[in-house]
Amino acid sequence: MRFPLALSLRIARHIIVNKLKGVRKFPLVLQLEPLHTCNLTCTGCGRIREYSTSLKDVMSLEDCLRSAVECDAPMVSICGGEPTIYPFIEELVHGLLQQRRIVYICTNSARMRQKMLDWLARTYSPATEPKLAALLAAGLITEKEASEIRKGKNDHKPSIAPTQWMYWNVHVDGLERTHDLIVERKGVFKECIAAIKMAKLLAYQVATNATVFKETDMQEIEHLLDYLSSLGVDGFTISPGYDYDAAKLDMVKRGKGKPEDFFLTRKLTQEKFKNVVAWGKKYPLFGTPAYLEFLAGQRDLHCTAWAIPTRNIAGWKAPCYLMTDAHYRTYREMLEKVDWDKYGVFNGVVRDPRCENCMTHCGYEPTVSLGIDTQPGDLWKMLKYNFGPRPKGCRDASHVHAFNGVSAGPGRATNEPSAIRQKLAEREAAAAVAAGQGNAGGCGAHP
Ligand code: SF4
Ligand code: SF4
Repeated sequence: MRFPLALSLRIARHIIVNKLKGVRKFPLVLQLEPLHTCNLTCTGCGRIREYSTSLKDVMSLEDCLRSAVECDAPMVSICGGEPTIYPFIEELVHGLLQQRRIVYICTNSARMRQKMLDWLARTYSPATEPKLAALLAAGLITEKEASEIRKGKNDHKPSIAPTQWMYWNVHVDGLERTHDLIVERKGVFKECIAAIKMAKLLAYQVATNATVFKETDMQEIEHLLDYLSSLGVDGFTISPGYDYDAAKLDMVKRGKGKPEDFFLTRKLTQEKFKNVVAWGKKYPLFGTPAYLEFLAGQRDLHCTAWAIPTRNIAGWKAPCYLMTDAHYRTYREMLEKVDWDKYGVFNGVVRDPRCENCMTHCGYEPTVSLGIDTQPGDLWKMLKYNFGPRPKGCRDASHVHAFNGVSAGPGRATNEPSAIRQKLAEREAAAAVAAGQGNAGGCGAHP
């Protein structure tokens, strides 16, 4: 099966119970942002600048757990910012699991290995030794780290332990060169891969999330899926990157180029995602078959942003994860006060100009699961997708040169801090060569 049976059943039960009760609008996934601070400054991320990024500005643990109870979505995606920086992340995960939620920790991986080391130390016993031996043999921990684990850790904190109810959801936008350019820091891809390998060795569930931008080479994304599935990654999300307000403003403010050179339009999204339905059969892509068809431009869907609400320090963010028109005190108040018909695009009618190029998960993925815009055959496709055999992905990824950036040598590209500036420079240099005005190599290619 594509997803563990217990998880699929829990989500199906939530939908059926709400439908039987006649509830018209209800949530499927809560996007919980306990903080907006991050240890990276990725190109195109407006989140860390839309809100204050001070570590003092965090949601209290009680507020986080209360929000999950209040909206009662079966899945909670802890995002941000970087959630592993949140001082009570272990307590939060523990509390959500106690509430019987399915938990995703969306991370850039920088602190993921430390969290797993903490779990090993807090639960150390002689039975841990084979795990330590395997991690040492794979070069995923050092002898010093193994010794620290053996000392144990008695701080009376819960740990983030492997369970079928929790996924590490690691942000990986491409192979090494591309990913490190986008996150604007060398070595991040290498750390992601080490953390993923360690997590799989310790029997955690791991998903990854890649955002596709205008410059993204879709063959590289296919190679990335080959490579990650060969590491045993359990599921993938691929999202279209579009120029939502905060990201656009950030890019202009930081002088990182023009948003139209980086983000996707609706038409370009459909072009980039034209093979995504076939990929859904080959790789364990998360989502629904209808959403994949929507991305590929094969059908239209209404935006149902109320089904994937965002809660952060300012309140319930409306209308969606990407756009902010207001914050509300409660999920119910947001549901009632927002005029949801003002948003989205349907049958070519753009209801809000800011929605024009949006085809993102948080707006459109839940639509058909909620029984909206269904077509004959959708139910069968969904059952087959979720309960059929799990796509195998790629077992042997020897054709993929995953480490094609800084670890392959001090390449020009990975010495450049900005993905946007790099891409623009390459394009300008190529144009100059074509016009007989210069050469594409050397430092003159950089603006
Ligand atoms: S995209 Fe994620 S990892 Fe990157 S800066 Fe934004 S919050 Fe941090
Ligand atoms: S289409 Fe929906 S999810 Fe997308 S920006 Fe508009 S309101 Fe938000």
